[in-house]
Amino acid sequence: MKTPIEQQIRDYQNNDFKNFSSNLLIRIKATHILLILLLLINAFFFTTESISIVIQLIMAVLVGLHDYDDNKLKTALTEHSIQTLKLTEVATKDYLTQIPNRRCFSQTGDKFFHLSVRDKTDFTILFIDIDLFKKINDDLGHNIGDEILRLIATTLQQSIRKSDLLARIGGEEFAILLPNTDIIKGFMISENIRKIIEKTKYIHECNDIFMTISIGIAQRGKLDSTLDDMLKRSDLALYKAKELGRNRSVTEQQL
Ligand code: GH3
Ligand code: MG
Ligand code: MG
Repeated sequence: MKTPIEQQIRDYQNNDFKNFSSNLLIRIKATHILLILLLLINAFFFTTESISIVIQLIMAVLVGLHDYDDNKLKTALTEHSIQTLKLTEVATKDYLTQIPNRRCFSQTGDKFFHLSVRDKTDFTILFIDIDLFKKINDDLGHNIGDEILRLIATTLQQSIRKSDLLARIGGEEFAILLPNTDIIKGFMISENIRKIIEKTKYIHECNDIFMTISIGIAQRGKLDSTLDDMLKRSDLALYKAKELGRNRSVTEQQL
């Protein structure tokens, strides 16, 4: 049974090899035409049957080797691509939730940041932390805690635009990057997400488990030179949200 990533890569490879295969077909056809020509020459110029058989055998071996080498190359390329894509995925995806990890967040976030500086567009970050998550682990166990983390990640992912970036940047901490978004719009988006999570339930042994999140919000300012500058302010705003009683969104302006 193949894992989804392997299946994805195989599909990708199948498409990619359509071109490869058609090239291969042309080359095989060329070899076959050559073989037929040689057989015709053979029929004209050689009368002895044994010489004719030897030539046919040589040609058959050549065609066999040709096919064998191409298949070997095809397999090697497929395996190489699978390994490369697997490594890229491991390096950028969070193993538990299957959303982008902190490394991906930093790399892509830097690009978002510099794009927003260059284009002079608004750029806002939401720093999200699950409320009282330690209690979930203590009451229900670490495995259920993991399940809930997955559910929250999926719900967050479904609550944002395709152009936004969600990442798991800590144990029960997430960040969302909102390009072309100012802090007022960012606050509205944040509250929308917070309310969605508040209503999301995880069912455990016939009991409904509800979670809440706190969110700190910061916008790119003129003095910011890196994404980290924004992240620090959103972290302070998050801290404030916890202080004020959790399950709320706080902007850097409220600090
Ligand atoms: P607060 O509202 O102040 O954020 O309270 P909290 O309990 O969420 O605070 P804290 O940050 O101290 O605790 C986070 C907990 O998240 C502690 C840790 O056991 C748990 N945690 C971190 N990573 C994972 C994980 O991958 N799986 C599970 N199940 N728990 C995790
Ligand atoms: Mg935390
Ligand atoms: Mg927490």
